[in-house]
Parts: sequence; C-alpha cells; structure tokens
Amino acid sequence: MTIDLHPTQTPLSDEERRQRLQSPGFGRIFTEHMISIKYTADKGWGPSTLVPYGPITLDPAAAVLHYGQAIFEGFKAYRHANGGIVTFRPEANALRFAASARRLAMPELPVDRFLEAARVLITQDQAWVPSREGESLYIRPLLVATEAFLGVRPSHEYLFLLFASPAGAYFPGGVKPVTVWISDDYVRAAPGGTGTAKCAGNYAASLVAQSKALEQGCDQVVWLDAVERHWVEEMGGMNIFFVFERGGYPRLVTPSLETGTLLPGITRDSLLTLARDLGWEAEERRVSVEEWDEGLETGLIKEVFACGTAAVITPIGTVKSKRGTWEVGDGKAGPIATRLRTLLLDVQHGRVPDTHGWLTAMVPA
Ligand SMILES: *Cc1c(COP(=O)(O)O)cnc(C)c1O
Repeated sequence: MTIDLHPTQTPLSDEERRQRLQSPGFGRIFTEHMISIKYTADKGWGPSTLVPYGPITLDPAAAVLHYGQAIFEGFKAYRHANGGIVTFRPEANALRFAASARRLAMPELPVDRFLEAARVLITQDQAWVPSREGESLYIRPLLVATEAFLGVRPSHEYLFLLFASPAGAYFPGGVKPVTVWISDDYVRAAPGGTGTAKCAGNYAASLVAQSKALEQGCDQVVWLDAVERHWVEEMGGMNIFFVFERGGYPRLVTPSLETGTLLPGITRDSLLTLARDLGWEAEERRVSVEEWDEGLETGLIKEVFACGTAAVITPIGTVKSKRGTWEVGDGKAGPIATRLRTLLLDVQHGRVPDTHGWLTAMVPA
C-alpha cells in the first residue's frame, strides 16, 4: 500500500512549533497534516492521502449531520529516550474501530489501512511528538457519513480522517483524586444500545449528566446500569476499578463486559494483565452501588480509580449521590493506583521491557 503525500507548502518554523508545544494541554493544538480516505458503496475504500491539516467541507444534507453515523478512536504515540517513536496497542484500536463501524452500519476500515495511516502521519509530523515526561501525541481517527441524502438508511459515502494532537501531562501538578456524582437520572448505555461502540452520539447523550455532576460540585459522573440503576458501569468516558483488600493482598475488580453496555477499554484490559503480572488477583464481574458503599464502610474497598487512554489512571476520592457522600481513602492517590499507573507509563515510555508486545514502532530509533 502507498499513501499519496500532499504535504503543506507552508510548514511552520521550528521556533513556531516549539512555541506551540510549550504547554500543549489536551486536544487544543494539532499537527500540520492529516490522513484522509473516502469510501463509496460502489467503489469501496479509495486511496489514502496525506494532506495539510485543516477544515473539511460537508454538504448540509450529509447524513452524519442528521442521523449521527460518526465513530472515533483515541490512542497515543510516545517518543522514547533513544529517539524512536512507538504507539501502544494500536491494532486493538483498529479492531475496536471496526467493531464500532459494524454497530453503526458503517463500513469497516481494514486494520492494516488504519495502522498505515497512523504510521504515515506520525512519520510526517514526528517533530510534533513531545518528549517531556508525561507528554505524548494523541492520535484521533474518525469516520463520518458524508452522503447528501435525507432518507433514513446507512449512508453510501463516508470519510475517514486521522489527525494528531500533542498532549501535555494530564496531571501537571501530580495525580489528584476526583469527586464523582452517581447519576440516577441519566444512563449512558442500555442493553442492545450502542454502549460498546465508540460513537459520537454516546458522548452527546452524556453531556447533560456531566453538567448535573458539575452542578453538584463533582468533576465526573458515574454511570449505573439502565435497567436496575444498581450496577456500576463507568465513570465519564473511562472504565472503573475497585481495589479490594483482604489479608494484605489486593484484589482488583472491574465491571464485566457481558452486559454489552460498557466500552471495552484498552487501558482496562492492559491493567487487568499488569495486575496479574504483579501477582494480584484481577476479576471482571458486576459491582453494585451497595457493595461500593458497604466496602468503604467495612474497609474491604481500599481504592477506586478510573482508567482510559487520555488520563491513564484517575483516582476517585469522594463519591456523591442522592444517597449521601462517601470518602474513598485519605484524599491522596492510593498505592495500588499509583503502582499500576507508574508501571503502565513505564511500559509506554519504554523504561521497562515490553513483555506483552504492546508497543508498535512507528518511527525507528
Ligand atoms: C474510550 C473510552 C474508554 C477508555 O478506553 P481506552 O481504550 O482505555 O482509552 C472508556 N469508556 C468510554 C465510554 C470510552 O469512550
């Protein structure tokens, strides 16, 4: 496969780029290029092209603007000390992207085309991969329905884009536990719905609940299951872990995927593996709000944290709901969350051996 390269005729100076990389934050600045692939029902996937990053045009009747066929992914590229650039488990993102596409009746981009797009963009824009501690290049692939047609059916035309955004350390002042609001009024996903797909509509539907959480003085919303409003599912756009302890041994528990209402996080999956590597038990099963409450009361639950690509691990310090307010731990990040966070970051940044083959070289050292 080859990608047509049409790079920008007006590249930024090194000085300008350095300035923009000074304090990148998250999702605010973008590199100079993007990959674009068109799909049509009769011709399938067209060629991949690298073009300057910038606005796209859409017909006002484009299906995505009306009926919401839109999916996305998120993963990171890291610059290692030897100068090489790697990504973390990108084929897992490619497979999830294909699964999301199936759920929204969209065409699946082949895994190798997804990976090639990432490799070509990262190679072109490698000067934009930050190198300071905790920094990375966040890669955002997306697929939207572009056919100009107002009838309700799967679109016959789509646009795949892959672009990148330099990301600063998520917790520049050190990891600080968040306060969460357990939502009884709104749900993120229902059985048979789109909860397992990384689709735009899930996020649109979550925003009002997130606003309610902010009104309650909380940082994030915790989602319960749609049927019984009893089982803990996720925190915002992150998966959630409970750290139980008995006889000095930690046991990690994370809500199981079999309900079909959770987003199968790659960070979640990686932490289950790393916990078992450390000799800890790690279990996938349902956890109820009552078990959470009782576990804190009896001291069986020591820590609770959320995980995802953007923030890696975010400890939960305070839990608020209509039932009252609970404190988790002592207001600091717990030792288990801290240990796992350090270990995962060490793997991603190449400071410890990659024993699971999770790193894919994008630009050689
Ligand atoms: C993306 C996402 C996650 C985390 O997935 P990672 O692969 O770990 O980044 C968790 N929950 C939701 C709802 C998400 O959209």
